[in-house]
Parts: sequence; structure tokens; C-alpha cells
Amino acid sequence: MSKKNIIPIFVPHNGCPNDCVFCNQTKITGQGKEINLGEIKDTIDEYLSYFKDKSDVELAFYGGSFTAIDFNLQNSLLDIAREYKNKGLIKEIRMSTRPDAIDENILLNLKKYLVDTIELGVQSLDSGVLKLSNRGHNVDCVYTSSNLIKEYGFNLGLQQMIGLPGDNIEKSIFTAEEFIKLNPHCVRIYPTLVIKDTKLEDDYYKGLYDSLSIDDAVNNIKEVLKLYIKNDINVIRVGLQPTEEINYDGSIVSGPFHPAFRQLVESEIIMDVIKKYFNNKKIDTEIIIKSSGKNISNIAGQKGRNKSELQKKLGQNIKLKQGEFDNFTLEFLYNDIDEKINIKNYF
Ligand code: SF4
Repeated sequence: MSKKNIIPIFVPHNGCPNDCVFCNQTKITGQGKEINLGEIKDTIDEYLSYFKDKSDVELAFYGGSFTAIDFNLQNSLLDIAREYKNKGLIKEIRMSTRPDAIDENILLNLKKYLVDTIELGVQSLDSGVLKLSNRGHNVDCVYTSSNLIKEYGFNLGLQQMIGLPGDNIEKSIFTAEEFIKLNPHCVRIYPTLVIKDTKLEDDYYKGLYDSLSIDDAVNNIKEVLKLYIKNDINVIRVGLQPTEEINYDGSIVSGPFHPAFRQLVESEIIMDVIKKYFNNKKIDTEIIIKSSGKNISNIAGQKGRNKSELQKKLGQNIKLKQGEFDNFTLEFLYNDIDEKINIKNYF
């Protein structure tokens, strides 16, 4: 299967009528400039020249609220995207926007420009969390927009944030359960970070908001991610992409930032599964665990820490072997037993 190559075009805070407490789009996307159509074409050409496999290229408008941008500018951007799609140089067009910047006219226009995927920055489906985050839209509008996007035949993407003001594990799980009912094409999960020059930064310094610790964020996102995995929802990102600004020495004031956040969460999930499988089992031999390459590094953990912890807990040496497995299958060989499991059955 060929890997999707993405051409990211950032439209920072452009057109967004709102000021969410956590948002400083310039810092989050690392792009502070105004939109220049000529530069966008150059960017696309440059990316296309890098890609070896050009069969599955997606042009993605990230940041800001695309469908709230001035209509003429929106169409000029879409014009460029459609031109490349018509020439067969890109396969799909994606964008992100606010749930209240969707209506039938907007969707008809996006259809005309051959857009494939619309991602909604929903963040939470708890009214109190939306209000405290100054999202500027209510919960109902998320359901209406999501259903409309699907009715018009677009792929629906939903973005969830964990640790917003007023959020807790129960509300995060509720949001994930509601997302699952909307049956999105894909989901992104972001832990809330306190970024410079935001309302959240003020609240943080006034002691009105405290960010999640990395352990709590990993733990809460673990529960949410398990729900999505169990329901076969494609989670395409966990954690913000590190940029110059989003990094330890960038614009983060506080919050659970880690450059490999997803790996932290997935390691925890796999460790929980293995511990649950071996719970109360008497093991007399070395244990061999076979899995996909990705799971091998998750089980090993950074500097082999997870594996050492497991060996200590189970009292036996552990050998990790890579096999032709999907990411949900593990095979355990110990005593006289050779057993394959699906990790989803151990959540
Ligand atoms: S809707 Fe999006 S772009 Fe607008 S302020 Fe909120 S997070 Fe930022």
C-alpha cells in the first residue's frame, strides 16, 4: 500500500472570528505571514518535487478556519488546489474549520472545488468546556455540521482536545463516545498546551488554569484512544506536531508536551495489555513476544525501560521478535504455550 504524502498549506487564524482561550494560531502553526497565492503554488511544486511516490498526494489547508475566510480568498486557494487535482498531481484536498462555519452553501462550494475531507475543530462535546474555552459555538452545531458534511459526501474529520478548562477524564470519554456515534472518517487528539500570548497563559499565571501533567495527559488520552481503536476509528494524530515554536524552548508556557506523545500513549496501552494477559499466570520459562515492528519499540520502551519493568514484574527473561503482524496482534510463547491475542480484547 502506498503511503499518503501530504502538502501542508497553513492559513493561520485567517478568517477566524474567534479567540479560543488556548489559541495562538501563529505560534501553533509556526506560520506568521499573510497568505500569498504565488508562494502557495511554489510550496506545492516544491513538495511535489520531493515526493518519490506521487500516487497518493493530499493537499491540506491547516490552521485557522478555512470556511470562515473571505469567500474570494477561499475560492482563490481552492482554485489552485482544484487545478492541481484536475491535472492528477494531487489526489485529495483536505481542510480544517470551525463547526459553526459550515452550511449548505459552503458545502456546495467545496463540492465544486473537489474537496474530499473536512475536519472540524470540535475539541469537546461538553457545553461547560466549550464555554470556558470561549469556543463561540454550542454543542448542537457540532452534530448539525458533522451530519451535513457526511450528507454531502465529504469525509468527516473530528479534532478533540484533552485538558481544556473544566475538562476531566469523564468529559473526555463522553466526547470520544459521541464522536464515535458520529462515525468520523478520522480523528485527531491533542493535549492542551499553554501557549504564549493566549488567554490561557493569563489564566495560568493568575492560577485560574492548571495544565495536565504529562502522566495525567498520557493516562487520559490512553483511555480515549482505546475507545477509538476498539471502535475502528482511524486516529491520524495524537499530540501536536513539534515545530520551532511548539517545542521545549519555543512558545510553550506549560503543559504536557512531548515530541513523541503518541508513542508514550501507545506504549502504555501495550504494557497494560501484556500485564493483563499475564496476570495470575504461572510462568516457568523465558517469554517470547512476537509483534509488529512498531509494537516491538513500544514494548521495549525508551532505553529498554518497559521491557526491564516487565521482566521484573513477570520474573522471567523476555525476548522480543518482530513478525508479520498488524498492530493489534501479539503472540506469546512461554511454558508450552503459543498464543496469539488481539489487544482490543484486553482493553
Ligand atoms: S476556532 Fe480555531 S483558529 Fe479560531 S481561535 Fe479557535 S482554535 Fe484558533
